[in-house]
Amino acid sequence: MEKGIATRCIYGDGKKFGGDRTGAISFPIYQTATYAHPALGRDTGFSYSRLQNPTRQQLENVVASLEEGIDALAFSSGMAAITAMMELFRPGDHIIVDADLYGGSIRLFDNINTKNGLTFSHIDCSKEKVEDYITENTRAIYIETPTNPMMNVVDIRRMAQIAKANHLLLIVDNTFLSPYFQKPLTLGADIVIHSGTKFLGGHNDTLAGFVVTNSTEISERLRFLIKTVGSGLAPFDSWLILRGIKTLPLRMEKAQENAQAIVEFLQHQKGVEKVYYPGIEGTPGYEINRKQATGFGSMITFAVESSELAQHILASTELIPFAESLGGTETLLTYPCTQTHADVPKEKRLQNGITDCVLRLSAGIEDKKDLIADLKQAMESFYKR
Ligand SMILES: *Cc1c(COP(=O)(O)O)cnc(C)c1O
Repeated sequence: MEKGIATRCIYGDGKKFGGDRTGAISFPIYQTATYAHPALGRDTGFSYSRLQNPTRQQLENVVASLEEGIDALAFSSGMAAITAMMELFRPGDHIIVDADLYGGSIRLFDNINTKNGLTFSHIDCSKEKVEDYITENTRAIYIETPTNPMMNVVDIRRMAQIAKANHLLLIVDNTFLSPYFQKPLTLGADIVIHSGTKFLGGHNDTLAGFVVTNSTEISERLRFLIKTVGSGLAPFDSWLILRGIKTLPLRMEKAQENAQAIVEFLQHQKGVEKVYYPGIEGTPGYEINRKQATGFGSMITFAVESSELAQHILASTELIPFAESLGGTETLLTYPCTQTHADVPKEKRLQNGITDCVLRLSAGIEDKKDLIADLKQAMESFYKR
């Protein structure tokens, strides 16, 4: 019988690791660069940690199991994962990417990959007709859903149909909902990306990234890449992410509950013009998100009436830090226009709705009354100045 996701967060596919005779419940950190060979032509399954390390392998098994892929590869950061994955393409290839993506991904595509001969069309995959942008050189569609930071929901099944019909790969960055709420490979995607730094690790204490696939061919090419480019995740960081994943279901549920309470508060708070959260009934993404995921997550973007108010909030919260990143135990407030999306050209940023009045909040797992009280005092003090 297929094990439930909370069980798989702890044990992965359930295969016991055979190499440790101590009975250690916490998977050991194999802090080694190299491995002795028993004899010429024989090995233990490990030869050098750039290729593979037992702690990293255990983590990769757990993540592959959660995403229902056949293979997952752990990299030193989300960007290292995406950079290695982009080596699947060659000069001349064209990729359709959603216009609203994590700023670092846009920076990679527009500066590094473009220099190496790839071309991109940045379009709104939640609204535009994707088929119209496919050329004979198109090789892939790259999306996030919900998108960072504007929370647009893209229909994964529809993108998969378009990709299949045109022999393209569908690549989904699943960082925002994590496999606890959404499993793109089961909806037709070919490759899933994660910034493991965020919900999977979950404690704002280390960086990691993943590429997951259900294709043996892609898995083999990625295995060649990870051993060649050398950006695999280190043993201790692998252990931190393994430990983080054990509580993924508890954290996702609690953070979502906090997010829903914060959304409700923001919707009635003076100075807030618009709240972007896929769990608000009647918003464009609500029904699609409900059909393709089991939750709405804990990321909220909201626009306030002026950039002065936005900056006042960032300066005035007493509990909630003003910091980049998301998906951890700590609630964080981010200012996308000067932080995560600062390198996205201004006109593109404004086109996506990322003005200097927009704030992004990642709900953590604190007591919701404390979070709401902090946001309330930060906003109300603006009008008492
Ligand atoms: C943070 C993030 C990344 C990049 O991951 P790092 O671990 O910071 O390198 C990629 N995609 C999304 C959606 C992210 O939030």
